[in-house]
Amino acid sequence: MGVKTVRRIDHGLKRSMEMQIHIDPDVCQGHTLCALAAPQIFLLREDDGHAYVTSADVPQGQEDVVRRAVATCPEGAISVTE
Ligand code: SF4
Repeated sequence: MGVKTVRRIDHGLKRSMEMQIHIDPDVCQGHTLCALAAPQIFLLREDDGHAYVTSADVPQGQEDVVRRAVATCPEGAISVTE
C-alpha cells in the first residue's frame, strides 16, 4: 500500500481567491488591448479574436496588471470582483 501523490499543475501561478475576472462575450469586440496589456492573463480566440481567460481567478500579484487591462478595454467588456 503506497502513498498517493497528487501533483497540481498551476504553471507556477498561485490563484487569488479575492479577485475574479469576467468578460462579457456579448460586449467584447476583439480589440485585443487587454491581451496586449496582460498577455499572461487574457487570451484571444482564434476564430473571432475575442478575449477569454483560462481561469476567472486572478493569480496573486497580477491584480494591478489586470486592473490596467480592464482600463484599456474600450468596450467596458471586462469587470472584476474583489
Ligand atoms: S480589450 Fe475589451 S473588447 Fe478588446 S479583446 Fe479585450 S475584452 Fe474584448
